[in-house]
Amino acid sequence: MATTIDGKATSQAVRDRVAREAAEFIAATGHTPGLVTILVGEDPASQVYVRSKGERCREVGMASFHDQLPASSSQDEVESAVARWNADDRVDGILVQLPLPGDLDSKPVLELIDPSKDVDGFHPVSVGRLVANQPGLRPCTPAGVMELLRAYGIPVSGAEAVVVGRSDIVGKPVALLLLHQSATVTIAHSRTRDLAEVTRRADILVAAVGRPEMITGDMIKPGAAVIDVGINRTDNGLVGDVEYASAAQVAGAITPVPGGVGPMTIAMLLANTLEAARLRRG
Ligand code: NAP
Repeated sequence: MATTIDGKATSQAVRDRVAREAAEFIAATGHTPGLVTILVGEDPASQVYVRSKGERCREVGMASFHDQLPASSSQDEVESAVARWNADDRVDGILVQLPLPGDLDSKPVLELIDPSKDVDGFHPVSVGRLVANQPGLRPCTPAGVMELLRAYGIPVSGAEAVVVGRSDIVGKPVALLLLHQSATVTIAHSRTRDLAEVTRRADILVAAVGRPEMITGDMIKPGAAVIDVGINRTDNGLVGDVEYASAAQVAGAITPVPGGVGPMTIAMLLANTLEAARLRRG
């Protein structure tokens, strides 16, 4: 039976470290790292997400700001909000909660964020730095995947890694992070021929698809580390992209859903906010 990779405990460990290091940073610089969440409209799920980001931020001793804009905001109004926070020195990280409502276009909004405050890591400058393996702010969920591998001592260098999914927010960045740690990386997607043949090569298998339990035990190499990024709401509750029961019989280590990658995202957002404060203030 596979070792359970505990995202809750690992997330707590990251948050404890961020709290310690934030306190040291404040003592050394007199500046409290700050994160602003910008929410347009009142989508209930988004409200829960931004509230918990704010709470977690305060828990680690960092400053939290919230900018609530009406759903009726124009593109200009949303972009002006970003510009205001770019200019506000109390804030080191800007997070625009997605999706934006109605016809608002998120792309120009995200591109307006000062790259030095881009704690979500979605700005083209951050993407370029990731591709070039230069220091910068990395997207939170992919960074969380890497932190889980690190925390559980799973060797990455030289390993065969297969990432299923090629989205800009998970699949591609996680593949690049694995590559930069010298894994041999394959990216699979909806057009991949014989997916099971590809996934069975993986020492590290990352599933970021958004299809409930599509990766089954027979698609996994015995002893592999399986990281399930998927979050799918079904009639049977929350499930991942991996069929946990059959996968756990074969894998060496596996993340549960919930309680695996999910809790890592906010932890890495806090780590990014502290990192942004450091990069911005030397
Ligand atoms: P996405 O943008 O919908 O991308 C899904 C990817 O899966 C695409 O690249 C798609 O291939 C590929 N795919 C779809 N069907 C496939 C199939 N049958 N075989 C192989 N590949 C297939 O999704 P995402 O934003 O990356 O999110 C993926 C999952 O992670 C979702 O469940 C999401 O909820 C979850 N998620 C969790 C967190 C977190 O834990 N905090 C954060 C972000 C996302 P094509 O490119 O060919 O269409």
